Amino acid sequence: MTGKPPDPLFGRIALIGIGLIGSSLARVIRRDGLARHIAVAARTQGTLDKAVELGLADSVTLDARDAARDADLVVLCTPLGAYAPIATDIGPALKPGAIVSDVGSVKQAVIRDVEPHLPKGVHLVPAHPVAGTEHSGPESGFAELFDGRWCILTPAAGTDAQAVERVKALWQRAGMLIETMDAEHHDQVLAITSHLPHLIAYTIVGTATDLEDYLKSEVIKYSAGGFRDFTRIAASDPVMWRDVFLNNREAVLEMLGRFSEDLTAVQRAIRRGEGDTLHEIFTRARELRRGVIAAKQA
Ligand code: NAP
Repeated sequence: MTGKPPDPLFGRIALIGIGLIGSSLARVIRRDGLARHIAVAARTQGTLDKAVELGLADSVTLDARDAARDADLVVLCTPLGAYAPIATDIGPALKPGAIVSDVGSVKQAVIRDVEPHLPKGVHLVPAHPVAGTEHSGPESGFAELFDGRWCILTPAAGTDAQAVERVKALWQRAGMLIETMDAEHHDQVLAITSHLPHLIAYTIVGTATDLEDYLKSEVIKYSAGGFRDFTRIAASDPVMWRDVFLNNREAVLEMLGRFSEDLTAVQRAIRRGEGDTLHEIFTRARELRRGVIAAKQA
């Protein structure tokens, strides 16, 4: 085969936010020539300078509306709390037929905060690439982040099918497997698979931080005993996670309630010396881990 470059999927893509996820997507777009022009917006000049230095942008601006003007696809890659003001700002500049998507970890909030600000003829296709690390900023991204992971699309019923297909194609080119579901279902599933584990990690690290000094130094010294894995998760961006919990309140509270009940059951089994109960709970948990490995998501 001769080296004819692949047809770009889009003319102009605007990335609003260029941190871990936005910059990883920009790297994929660059690698595979998926857009003729990548316009990047962020809040601070330092981030934009970094994006240029890394070769991730054809144009940069502190004004999201400038980036979104004439874009065929706009992807919001900021923390969720910034969505409503950004959507209010860019709405009037969007051209008919443009697609607005995002990468946020909660999906009902996108429909609530973004949809009302979009003009008629602009298609909203929310997406969540379920892949990440605890690092932030444009320098932390890498194109392979998405390889073999799931991307969940949550378009409302009646969304233009072609717009959905184009967003799907973008994430498939990033190496992702695609699932489409209802936004409410997404938020319930992610509450248990992602949001609650982060909450537990933040809490357990908080508990250790509050220990008396003589214990605290031991916690760090012997962290390889299990604590270390929680500290990695708890190193994730506090703004991003604050916004996740503020925007997925009900589903997280529901899962937290179930978790507290189960924790109480374990506590009781320990107190009563019920070894069989503990053994059964741990055995079931171990089986689930085997399922994760078999599904190649370990
Ligand atoms: P990040 O590395 O902290 O980057 C956030 C980016 O958003 C930065 O470029 C920041 O610009 C920009 N930004 C923040 N507020 C803005 C505003 N008001 N206007 C314009 N730009 C703004 O964050 P991330 O980890 O990539 O997360 C971004 C989104 O991806 C979040 O919604 C999160 O839920 C979702 N997500 C994250 C992960 C993960 O593991 N991290 C996984 C899947 C999905 P400045 O640097 O100039 O402030």
